[in-house]
Amino acid sequence: MSDCLFCKIIAGDIPSAKVFEDETVYAFRDINPMAPVHVLVVPKCHIASANEVTGENASVVADIFKAIPKIAAAEGLTNGYRVITNCGEDGCQSVKHLHFHLLGGKKLPDQMG
Ligand code: AMP
Ligand code: ZN
Repeated sequence: MSDCLFCKIIAGDIPSAKVFEDETVYAFRDINPMAPVHVLVVPKCHIASANEVTGENASVVADIFKAIPKIAAAEGLTNGYRVITNCGEDGCQSVKHLHFHLLGGKKLPDQMG
């Protein structure tokens, strides 16, 4: 999608701090980190949100969850981490390209704000 921020980041048109990349997955540091480690893990193909995951494209979600333990290990998250995806208006999703927040590096709050 030509007007999608994360598609532009994946294409290299907007700079990012890349931490992982394979054929289908791209991961980079969140520009506004909410934890000592805050990485966004995204599919290279444009999927607008979790609500647009289908039988046709769901394999990339498995690819993302295969990448996450590798990224977590590389980032030193030996004591655990949190994975979040925000979806739609009530989920406060601000970028309409499916992404998983990987958060860690400290004991995270156990309740939603
Ligand atoms: P969400 O609110 O779940 O849609 O998350 C979007 C995330 O993208 C936020 O945590 C932002 O800080 C992050 N973000 C926005 N623009 C950039 C960017 N250019 N590079 C890295 N992260 C970004
Ligand atoms: Zn996109």
